[in-house]
Order: sequence, then C-alpha cells, then structure tokens
Amino acid sequence: MDHVIVVGGGLAGVRSVEALRAKGYEGGLTLVSAEPHRPYDRPPLSKAVLTGDSDDTTVDADWAALRCELLLGERATGLRPADGGGGTVTTTAGDLPFDGLMIATGATPITLPGDGPQRVLRTIDDARRLRAGLREGARIVIVGAGWIGAEVATAAARKGCAVTVVEAADAPLANAIGPEVGAHTAPWYAEAGVELRTGVKVAAVEHGGLTLADGGRIDADEVVVGVGVRPETGWLEGSGLEVAGGVVTDAALRTNRPGIVAVGDCAAWWSRRYGRRMLVEHWDTALNAPEVAAATLLGQEAVYDAVPYFWSEQFGRMVQYAGHHPVAERMVRRGDPGDPKWAVCWLTGDRLEAVLTVDRPRDLVQARRIIAAGDRVDAVALADPEIPLRKT
Ligand code: FAD
Repeated sequence: MDHVIVVGGGLAGVRSVEALRAKGYEGGLTLVSAEPHRPYDRPPLSKAVLTGDSDDTTVDADWAALRCELLLGERATGLRPADGGGGTVTTTAGDLPFDGLMIATGATPITLPGDGPQRVLRTIDDARRLRAGLREGARIVIVGAGWIGAEVATAAARKGCAVTVVEAADAPLANAIGPEVGAHTAPWYAEAGVELRTGVKVAAVEHGGLTLADGGRIDADEVVVGVGVRPETGWLEGSGLEVAGGVVTDAALRTNRPGIVAVGDCAAWWSRRYGRRMLVEHWDTALNAPEVAAATLLGQEAVYDAVPYFWSEQFGRMVQYAGHHPVAERMVRRGDPGDPKWAVCWLTGDRLEAVLTVDRPRDLVQARRIIAAGDRVDAVALADPEIPLRKT
C-alpha cells in the first residue's frame, strides 16, 4: 500500500494516522479535514470550554514524526472507488488518489425548522461563540435534555444565566437510557436553578425565541439545539459504499469496498458481542476503533468488539455508562437515586449487560470488566451499594 487517505480530522482521524504508523505503515499519508483546526477533543467543549476554564483542546500529536500531510479547511466532496481496490477522493483541494481510505467524518448536529438563530455545539468555534452568549442574566433556552443539553445547562447555570430546558420526551435522557432511569436526573435541573419542561414539542426557532407545537412561545436571548446528530456521510452519495444510518462496516470495520474502512461517529459497525449493528457516538469508540480499522487496512486480522462506554459531567455529577442495556431483561437499582451516589444495573438472568453510575467510578470500572468478560453476578448483592460489585 503506497498511499492512505484519512478523511476527517476529529479524534478518530488523528487516531487513524497514529495507528497506521504504529503498525509500521511507511507509505504516504494524507489527512483531509473540513475544519481549519488541527484535531482536537470535543468532550471539553460542553464543559471546560463553555465555562471558560479551557480554550484549547488540541490533541497532542507529533505531526512531523507521523509524516502526515495535513489538508485542513478542505472538504471531501465525493468518492470514486476503483475496481479491484483503491480509488479517488474528490476534495475542495483537488482529486486525491488512494490505495487505502479511512473514513472518519464524524457527525453533524440536527437543527430545527425556523428562520431564527439557533446554536449547535459540535466544534470549538461553536463553543467559543456560545460561550460569548452565556452572560449573567441572559435567557438561554436549550432544546433537548440529552447529554449535550444537560451539560450546556450546567455551564449556563454556573455562569448565572436564566436557563430553560425544553424536552419532547417525558424525562431527560429518555432516548439514551430510558425514561425510568432518565427521570432520576430530573431533580438535578431544579437544584441547579434550571427550569426543565418535559413533554414539550418545539415547532420552530424564531427571532427572539421558540414557538411550541401547542401554540405557546418561549422568549430567549440564545436558543441552543441539542437534539442529536446525523452521521456525516452525504459526500459518499453515489459512491457505491453502503450507507444505512452510518457507513456500514463488518466487525473488522471494513466497508463493502476493498481498501476502505470507517471509524468513529460516522461508522455503523457490526458488533459480534451483541449480534447487531451499532452506531456509538462516543469518545471511547473514536479513540479505540481506529487501531482495529488500521490493522484491517494493512491486511492484519482484527475485530472491534468493545463494550460501549461513555461519561457525562452534569450538574456537578460524574455520570458514566458501560454496556448496552437494550439487550437486557431487567433493571436493578444499586442505591437510592435520591442520594448523591447511586447506580443502576441491567441484567439478563445473572449476566450483567450494562451499568449507569452516578459518582460511583469504582462501580463503573468493576462493571465494565465484568460486562466485557461476560461474567455472572449475584443480583441480590448487586442491589446493596455497600457490597463491592464483583463477579460470582
Ligand atoms: P468528529 O469528532 O465529528 O470529527 C469528524 C471530523 O471530520 C470533523 O472535524 C469534521 O469537520 C470533519 N469532516 C466531516 N465531513 C467532512 C468531509 N466531507 N471532508 C473532510 N472533513 C470532514 N463523548 C463521550 O463519551 N463523553 C463526553 O463527555 C462527550 N462530550 C461531548 C461533548 C460535545 C460538545 C461533543 C460535540 C461530543 C461529545 N462526545 C462525548 C462525543 C465525542 O466527542 C465524539 O464521539 C467524537 O468526537 C467522535 O469523533 P470522530 O472523530 O468520529 O468525529
């Protein structure tokens, strides 16, 4: 293989470059990324960057040692795979032929109808602009009580803004962890002085606020929309690459065309562990999947079979999740969700499928190991937060 192109300069993009070199790839390497910045970490954007505690989250990579050409501020616009492998990526910087291609174009926030200004939070530039609007007393209306919405509400409340969060479901985080568990986080909003309005559907974003589906209106100085993301795959249209939600890959992160792999938020990979296709839009996947994708591209045997993991910092709490609860039969509480520290565990029989912890990092670490190994647990002991979480 003489030339590999990585499209997308987020965490998955930089990790792809590093993984190729670490595995001994010596050929040409080009990273094309639409943003003008060197790859940076996104999790701090809704945390330290919004509060002003940090302004630079650039990933520490030695680009000279990596011998990688960086085409920043340039966008891939199309893909022409060649018969028998390789092909050409068309970009705003011209046509780039390749033998190997790693697709790491991430995801783009979904926006709402309406011609009023709406802020999303995906890039460092989004974060800096939003931060400037988080002035004391400013009326900040956040649409969506998901991970991003809760974190933006946390930062805005800390800055003394008057914050309202509008959520279409009946509880925060309902889509991510189910309404029953999500409801346990609802009191956190009031404690932080944030008004949470659930079961409210937004019709449109207008100048100076929102109109609601029931005809109501909420005035706002800033409207922030955190209603989810879409994998960034539009540039692959007409390429013959299979796209269904994200770029479809097998368990080795290989697409349906030879010499092309996909990783991170844009990839819908086959999970052997769960026997289903997964699209996990979290940092841990962008960090670790590129190693498997790079190995696959270089003709080595590798499978990405991770237990999904993510964290969120909201209202002064560390929330962590590992596993995949939709496959579980039942849920067991570990401690009282009214207390500062608690967890819930999802089980099938006595097998631990997933865990959500609130300020219980040790539980998370233990559970993640147990889930990865497929070990069994004692469901009765599990319900007692005083007994360490362990396999039977
Ligand atoms: P991205 O980071 O989206 O990078 C993709 C890059 O590709 C972008 O720079 C994009 O501009 C570029 N690109 C797109 N299309 C093209 C094209 N056609 N041509 C060239 N370049 C292109 N996860 C957690 O687990 N915990 C957290 O606390 C957490 N907090 C988060 C907070 C925020 C504000 C955000 C936005 C995300 C957060 N995440 C968190 C999720 C995590 O950051 C993402 O899963 C991760 O960034 C995905 O990395 P990626 O490289 O796949 O995609």
